[in-house]
Amino acid sequence: LASREVKEENSVVSIKNVTIGGNEVAIVAGPCAVEGREQLLEAARIAKAAGAKLLRGGAFKPRTSPYSFQGMEEEGLKLLAEAAETTGLVTVTEVIDEHSLEIARDYVDILQIGTRNMQNFRLLKAAGMSGKPIVLKRGLSATIEEWLMAAEYIMSEGNKDVILCERGIRTFETYTRNTLDLSAVPLVKGLSHLPVIVDPSHATGKRELVVPMSLASVAAGADGLLVEMHPDPSKALCDGPQSLDPELFGQLMASLEPVAAAM
Ligand code: PEP
Ligand code: MN
Repeated sequence: LASREVKEENSVVSIKNVTIGGNEVAIVAGPCAVEGREQLLEAARIAKAAGAKLLRGGAFKPRTSPYSFQGMEEEGLKLLAEAAETTGLVTVTEVIDEHSLEIARDYVDILQIGTRNMQNFRLLKAAGMSGKPIVLKRGLSATIEEWLMAAEYIMSEGNKDVILCERGIRTFETYTRNTLDLSAVPLVKGLSHLPVIVDPSHATGKRELVVPMSLASVAAGADGLLVEMHPDPSKALCDGPQSLDPELFGQLMASLEPVAAAM
């Protein structure tokens, strides 16, 4: 169902006033984790002022250590809903199991399946029945074939609104958090009609690499970007070093314009 062979034209995911996979480059911005009302509403205000149309924020965090901040859960989802109501931004949040999916469904517009759950097949099937668009991140060590088959799991349950997200893969390199596989963008767009976006934040782990990799992603044909941005990254409870501050985020949005226009 995900293959270009069964559907020649690009799929466009439409939600509220936003399209992903159409002519515009969709920008999803916001903190790694929802940390509180002030933090999230401020991030939403900054995202909107700079021209982003979608807001991200994790409420269920799949952390490497069980002792790290695990997210605000339903309280965080309520804040996302409030931010959407006050700004008109479309919201994206990660679900980590069927339980969190059931809760998140009532509060946000788009559900995200993270890299660690790309092959959680029961979760993929639940996402297929959720009635919500799904951002499907590429697994940490997933081949493109495995990634597309994960999309197939969602689509085979009747959900056509799948957005693929390249977020870097695990290699021997240690200077970056992961290795951004930029060739995956045009490659997957050739194999599949689904929209493809890039997350340069988790791909690199370094704030200073986010702007150049964002520009490269759009030049490679990405339909959008998923970028971590925090009102004050030095205070972030999660992924501060890769989060853009408001000023850098403004620079990103301004520098994207000519590249997006040229595509
Ligand atoms: C995230 O987007 O917050 C996240 C945890 O990403 P990934 O699943 O790509 O690590
Ligand atoms: Mn993060």
